[in-house]
Amino acid sequence: MESTLPNCPECGSEYTYEDGNLLVCPMCNHEWSAEDDTAVEENEIKDVNGQVLNDGDDVTVIKDLKVKGVSSVIKQGTKVKGIRLVDPEDGHDIDCKVPGIGQVGLKSSVVKKVNK
Ligand SMILES: [Zn+2]
Repeated sequence: MESTLPNCPECGSEYTYEDGNLLVCPMCNHEWSAEDDTAVEENEIKDVNGQVLNDGDDVTVIKDLKVKGVSSVIKQGTKVKGIRLVDPEDGHDIDCKVPGIGQVGLKSSVVKKVNK
């Protein structure tokens, strides 16, 4: 049977094999899912460092932000828990609740993902 498996995205090895829903590279032991590769990529929202953000992630604000209609400022370093990704409106692609401020839209370019 001819193999149509993709090469390993980590090391480029062609000796990849399937293990359930995962693809496995025997050369570098990298495991990944063959399916969510293409489907998800279009809508990826990334933080300032290029890390992909997901619903429910925690992030830190990387600079002071003025909030429309609110007199307070979201301070640099503010931790925001449980973000929700939304279709960008005016570039705001994150919906979240900021402590002391309330529900606001943030831009993914001003946040940094908190690795749990
Ligand atoms: Zn590999």
